[in-house]
Amino acid sequence: MGVPFIDIKRFEPGFLEKWAEKVHSLSQNAQFIGGQENFDLEKTLSEWTGKTHSIACANGTDAIQIALRAVGVDRGDKVLLPDSTFWATFESVVNCGADPYTVDTSPDDLQMEFSEFEAAIDKVKPKAAILVHLYGWGSSKVEAFRSLCQNKGIPLVEDGAQCFGVKYKGEALYKKSLIATTSFYPAKVLGAAGDGGAIFTSDPELADKSRKLANHGRTSHYEHGSVGWNSRLDSLQAAFLNLSLEHLPMRIASRRKAAEFYYQNLPKLGIKTVHPPEGFEENGYCNVTLFSPEERPKIESVLKEKGIGFANIYPGAMSDQPGAKQHIQGRFGSKEEARRIAKSVLNFPLFAYMKEEELSEVLQVVQSYYKS
Ligand SMILES: *Cc1c(COP(=O)(O)O)cnc(C)c1O
Repeated sequence: MGVPFIDIKRFEPGFLEKWAEKVHSLSQNAQFIGGQENFDLEKTLSEWTGKTHSIACANGTDAIQIALRAVGVDRGDKVLLPDSTFWATFESVVNCGADPYTVDTSPDDLQMEFSEFEAAIDKVKPKAAILVHLYGWGSSKVEAFRSLCQNKGIPLVEDGAQCFGVKYKGEALYKKSLIATTSFYPAKVLGAAGDGGAIFTSDPELADKSRKLANHGRTSHYEHGSVGWNSRLDSLQAAFLNLSLEHLPMRIASRRKAAEFYYQNLPKLGIKTVHPPEGFEENGYCNVTLFSPEERPKIESVLKEKGIGFANIYPGAMSDQPGAKQHIQGRFGSKEEARRIAKSVLNFPLFAYMKEEELSEVLQVVQSYYKS
């Protein structure tokens, strides 16, 4: 049969019909930019995130750039970011004209290493820093990152592209951030019918700056107080997201159930399965296991042969990307954990409404690898 790494076509009964109606009515009224759908979306996003302001924008990369610019990052400024993340985090620093410095990864939670970050803050004295919440949870030191940055007066931008719906100590992970972002790329936990993103903050000034930057620096229709760009989310995307949000609790519950299946079954085979740190309630974005660099290609070839999808989130450190060379100003971390983890991480299929048969098929293939 085979199991895909991800299948985003499993819509709830009636969902596509409702979407078709939305497309029809929005098109009939030529309601393509802004309007009620965008207003409703931002309101619902604020309910989910616990932030006073939600600003929808064109994609998750723009959201980080907007947040960085809103906290004052400008040409030639220094910004710290984790070495284990998606390339967009690195790009957004460079696209602000700022200089990126990467910080190594902790082998304990696979998120940014706090002690290296602390050392980097003192050495670089950055204008801002980015914390990325990876894998559908976040760092065991999230509170330490926030309070360190607050004490040092360094704005911390939280890239939450993978953590929509994640709870920390019973509330949205975004809630205690200064400013956080997300992505509505279709494969994320809350996905659009195309690209989309958002910025979340409870600081009215940061919210105002973000909203203006995402709309040509507009202060009124033909008056531009700053140079921003066009990063609006269109009304069709907002409508799709509004429909999806109605079902999101179910989708997250389904993902968490699949995640639980792996927690229950993979360790029995001796597979090192990474759990969210204490205090986190994950959104089921992905499954994370660790293999030795020698063993990983062997199990991967069995998965390929049997048609089981998998991923390596992420296969390399940002500082090693060919595109990083001309921009990177420094790397913090002598232990090379980001590189080591990139060679070990393997993600099994996980998505909303995965069937029990599919989960058992994945497990059977993995079991067959251990038996042979
Ligand atoms: C997906 C993702 C982004 C980028 O989002 P886009 O909407 O694709 O621009 C940024 N950071 C992380 C960690 C991501 O996973």
